[in-house]
Amino acid sequence: MNTQFLVNIVYILAAITFILGFKLMSNPLHAKRGNILSAIGMAAAIIATLLLPDIRYLAWVGGGAAVGFAIGALLAYRTPMTGMPQMVGLLNGFGGLASLLVAAAEYNVTTAPSIFHSFIIVLTAFIGAVTFSGSVIAWAKLEERFISGKAVVFKGQQLVNIGILAAILLGSLWFAGAADTEMGMSLFIGVALLSLLMGILLVIPIGGADMPVVICLLNSYSGMAACASGFLINNSLLIVAGALVGASGIILTLIMCKAMNRSVANVFLGGFGSGASGSAADVVGEIKPVSAEDAYLLLEAAASVVFVPGYGMAVSQAQHTVRELAEQLEKNGAEVSFAIHPVAGRMPGHMNVLLAEANVSYDQMVEMDNINPTMPTVDVCMVIGANDVVNPAAEEDKNSPLWGMPIIKSHEARTVIVLKRSMGKGFAGVENPLFFKNNTRMLFGDAKASIQSLVNEFKSAQG
Ligand code: NDP
Repeated sequence: MNTQFLVNIVYILAAITFILGFKLMSNPLHAKRGNILSAIGMAAAIIATLLLPDIRYLAWVGGGAAVGFAIGALLAYRTPMTGMPQMVGLLNGFGGLASLLVAAAEYNVTTAPSIFHSFIIVLTAFIGAVTFSGSVIAWAKLEERFISGKAVVFKGQQLVNIGILAAILLGSLWFAGAADTEMGMSLFIGVALLSLLMGILLVIPIGGADMPVVICLLNSYSGMAACASGFLINNSLLIVAGALVGASGIILTLIMCKAMNRSVANVFLGGFGSGASGSAADVVGEIKPVSAEDAYLLLEAAASVVFVPGYGMAVSQAQHTVRELAEQLEKNGAEVSFAIHPVAGRMPGHMNVLLAEANVSYDQMVEMDNINPTMPTVDVCMVIGANDVVNPAAEEDKNSPLWGMPIIKSHEARTVIVLKRSMGKGFAGVENPLFFKNNTRMLFGDAKASIQSLVNEFKSAQG
């Protein structure tokens, strides 16, 4: 048996671990196991690849891998849960950059490439470059570092995008036919630069609450870039892994588009969700602050309570205290459930993960579409650090950047108690009319501290 055959066997086993890993990750109960299984498969595949006879300069490869491992481990260790989308965004970008470099290296070492091979080289460079620059912009927007998180739009933006795309296509075809001529390198660099520009232009118009969709899309692009580099260097596992990431990323993008009520076509061309940029209508009504004691009285009398967790719950790490309050309410005879919005928090499934960590039963977590019709019969809706996902402007104000995004209809409950620290805005940066409605009471303070006060009220009432 030769080494290549053995390596191929390891690749097949690794591909199986990736697929099983995905399956396990579809449920928060086994997600961790799925992650570990796939990581073991990937580690085995990397080691097997290094054993191949045509792998040279092992010291360089080992040195690079060690530096990359140290940086990756440090980044992952230091990134708080609330910073995960930025980190995922950046990692997508690294995947794109790696593919761009693979394409450049392959072009450099191939003498007289065929038209097809040249086309794959330039295609890999294109997808890699778009993924890289788009991801860096997404990271900067989410971090609100260097650029604001707001949509950057200009007249004729989509036409410019289509023009650049056409230039990339023409340049790529030209390169495919002239890769081994004097023009080849200039065409390659030209297409790579235009692709970097394309990535930037695709992501700058995304603002407001639409970033989750773009992160999913870039994730998918990074998979496609890896898949294309797999074809280039003839590595079957890279093709399989890339295709899995590409396909699952597209599926997640479609799910997110549906959840956010956004058009898929606009997502691909850039500029979706940018029709409005914060010139929302003025809100009417007045803020009605409430003390923990008064909020307790409302909860004590409630027969049904719905919690709507959001990013603020993650920031204050209030999930365990929330579960404790839910138990107190149930002891008091109330029916309790948790309404989950698909983009609440800062990553898909963020709220499910936090609540599962606090041992909230899955039966109590209700999806947005199922909870909304019951909202008018709910006695108290507790909004815990959520803002955009409960903003009625999404249904009431055509000028709002949130217009069209489905929300959890907290405002339809008999009484709404909103827990937040100040009148600070949500991720989309717009005012929330919910806070000014007649049936809304604001319980200001850190969510965990406020909920702890409510738990204490229940406990002291029991004696
Ligand atoms: P938002 O970001 O809209 O609002 C969070 C609110 O939490 C803020 O208004 C803030 O108000 C409050 N808050 C922050 N810290 C605390 C604290 N310690 N205690 C109490 N309140 C706190 O959150 P949502 O979950 O409603 O919406 C998520 C937004 O993020 C959406 O726009 C979504 O599109 C976007 N997004 C989602 C991603 C995903 O995949 N889920 C990824 C990227 C973006 P205050 O400062 O006054 O306390």
